[in-house]
Amino acid sequence: KLNKADASSKTKIGIMGGTFDPIHYGHLVTAEAAAERFNLSPVVFVPSGRPPHKQKQKVTDSRERLRLTELATLSNCRFRISDIEVKRTGYSYTIDTVQWFYHHYGPNLELYFITGADAIVEIMSWHQVERLIQYCQFIAVYRPGYERDHLHKTIAQWSVEFSQRIHLIEVPALAISSTDIRERLQKGRSIKYLVPEPVEHYIRAQQLYR
Ligand code: ATP
Ligand code: MG
Repeated sequence: KLNKADASSKTKIGIMGGTFDPIHYGHLVTAEAAAERFNLSPVVFVPSGRPPHKQKQKVTDSRERLRLTELATLSNCRFRISDIEVKRTGYSYTIDTVQWFYHHYGPNLELYFITGADAIVEIMSWHQVERLIQYCQFIAVYRPGYERDHLHKTIAQWSVEFSQRIHLIEVPALAISSTDIRERLQKGRSIKYLVPEPVEHYIRAQQLYR
């Protein structure tokens, strides 16, 4: 039976989309910061199927990326993973994913899509962005420093309808990227403390990124 507090407070769910090729501490600390700040539970990690913006780039098999994401998130009871984009054929669009969550969990929830600052400045070019913003709010994460001014300027140019559904949060400096991790692995360099240990073990055992 619901008490008053439950009835009035909507469930807030975070969606953390990404290629996760491979997943790293930048992604994890970002999701945790967003969850804490906005009281999101769960935060669902959704590895992309075929990202439309990475058409030219070779992307690791989605089952491997899904497995890595699973290994990285297991120890956090607030984190979940979803294979909905991986299972979908064709390109992955955020609108399809967000709609799936909306219909699956019902309208009595608030969806928050978590993304890096690099992506939020491009959001206006996303597929069906007007519909997208009606289904979910955005949490855009930036690193301390100049990015803040750049972001505020960009968002200030948008209509209130958009800008009021975009929330900026600062996450302590993390220059970690999947690109850097892949390069390190190709060169035989260390990736220790950049990814969770189970992720590193799996990468080594399966000889990924060589
Ligand atoms: P790549 O180098 O291949 O582009 P990536 O490290 O940027 O990989 P993605 O899978 O492209 O990782 O990113 C998924 C999401 O996480 C994006 O919204 C991205 O902006 C964000 N993100 C990536 N790295 C970081 C980081 N170090 N700190 C905060 N957010 C990050
Ligand atoms: Mg990226």
